[in-house]
Amino acid sequence: AQFDAKMWQSIRETGQWQGEVWNRRKNCEVYPEWLNITAGTVDDGEQKKVTHYVATFSDITLRKQNEAEIFQLAFYDPLTELPNRRLLMDRLRHIMASRGYGVGHAALLFIDIDNFKTLNDIKGHDIGDLLLIDIARRLRSCVREGDTVSRLGGDEFVVMLESLSPEPEQAAAQAKAAGDKIHQSLNQPYQLKDFEHHSTCSIGISMFNHDVSADELLKHADTAMYEAKAAGRNALRFFDPAMQSALEARATLETELRQALAEQQFSLYYQIQVDADRHPIGVEALVRWNHPQRGLVLPEAFIPLAEETGLIQPIGQWVLETACAQLKAWEADASTRDLVLAINVSPRQFGAQGFVNKVESTLLRSGIAAARLKLEITESMLLHNVENVISTMRQLKALGVSFSMDDFGTGYSSLQYLKRLPLDQIKIDQSFVRDITIDRSDQEIVRTIIAMAQSMNLSIIAEGVETEQQRQLIANRGCTNYQGFLFGRPVPIEEFETLLRQK
Ligand code: C2E
Ligand code: MG
Ligand code: MG
Repeated sequence: AQFDAKMWQSIRETGQWQGEVWNRRKNCEVYPEWLNITAGTVDDGEQKKVTHYVATFSDITLRKQNEAEIFQLAFYDPLTELPNRRLLMDRLRHIMASRGYGVGHAALLFIDIDNFKTLNDIKGHDIGDLLLIDIARRLRSCVREGDTVSRLGGDEFVVMLESLSPEPEQAAAQAKAAGDKIHQSLNQPYQLKDFEHHSTCSIGISMFNHDVSADELLKHADTAMYEAKAAGRNALRFFDPAMQSALEARATLETELRQALAEQQFSLYYQIQVDADRHPIGVEALVRWNHPQRGLVLPEAFIPLAEETGLIQPIGQWVLETACAQLKAWEADASTRDLVLAINVSPRQFGAQGFVNKVESTLLRSGIAAARLKLEITESMLLHNVENVISTMRQLKALGVSFSMDDFGTGYSSLQYLKRLPLDQIKIDQSFVRDITIDRSDQEIVRTIIAMAQSMNLSIIAEGVETEQQRQLIANRGCTNYQGFLFGRPVPIEEFETLLRQK
């Protein structure tokens, strides 16, 4: 309707219109045509009167086809039908210009086929072409829809990955994962006519960086690819040596973590939680890794990677089982019988299929009362799929376990969601406690969190309480449960039990 209205407006105002329309041939086929309409008028002395319209048109099917062909020739590689260097650079410049800070990262993978020239020389260019076509097909199947696979020429391909993680190291890990996948795919045997060919490739990766131009970025990836060749081919290298070594360290850590699971190198440390009279009311279990060379490793150094790789699930299960066994052992003694033990559950573990069942069967096997187990969750869980989180929490709640919101106030807290969660406790994050003696706004935040928890009927505990002064300030604002070095550090079980006996 809009198109029609514009056309008629032009005819009324200027006496003519021209443009492209779709028309239908007698055999029903639709085709593009160039249409020119002119109004025929007579002048009766006073005004012009339109008596008729003249329309002329030409079929522009052929012209359109030619245009498309020219476009294809200009921007695509005829052999593999992949975008060529010109289109790649075009997209690259466009993306680099339109990228804001803080959005996901992007990466360029420069891929060169090892010993391609030898194949060409021995088997001829026809066979070489078949290999390139198959490589193009495999590359396309390795990447996501929005990513660009292009052929620069010869045996050089470039893959541009977009929408990687905003976190640099994680983005690099994703780029490496994509590179590994390409590597694996291109290393599979090729059936070229009647013979089977084996080929490898060298890959160089450069991560997008605001300080360099598109051409430099491509050069970086190329340089990294040469590094991979120099390392004996069939390899993958990052342009940034720091990135390369960070990734190698990650890979080592991942291998060691798997080993740690198999060899039971984890242990739980226990930290006391007390009430206003300094009576023990609960305990938080904190995981430690007794690394054979590096000694005791704190969770910050390995939990994030465990999350990313999924290793958090077996680790979390081990924590759960160990905690339940400890609760069972505590049943025998009057001083420990009533302690509630809290364990930390990470988002990936909580969101995993079958988490409720795992908790239920572990509780059953250990034979403890579910009410003595508390799960500490974090606000970051609410970033994805709040409905699922609520439903999982309800099911666990039905088993009898309780919930504490850890690190409260540091994450994404929609009160709207918060009031729908079946929580029992809120833990004021230690960052507010740390500066409470000097920072007035932290004092106000603590006061607000306490008021909110009270209005929602939730119990409240402050973590990271190190000094009497901090405790006093928090107490004045209405929070009388504490955890922190002032009352005890996280310690191994024997030490913890000694500490309890002293209290
Ligand atoms: P979180 O759950 O908030 O644990 C509190 C952290 O504060 C612990 O660090 C504890 O050692 C430390 N802390 C306790 N009192 C004080 C104090 O008075 N002052 C100071 N400065 N720090 C104090 P930790 O053990 O290094 O654990 C760090 C984080 O790692 C934990 O934070 C938790 O998010 C995670 N984590 C620990 N164990 C596990 C686990 O078994 N599973 C999972 N998924 N995460 C865990
Ligand atoms: Mg915690
Ligand atoms: Mg915490």
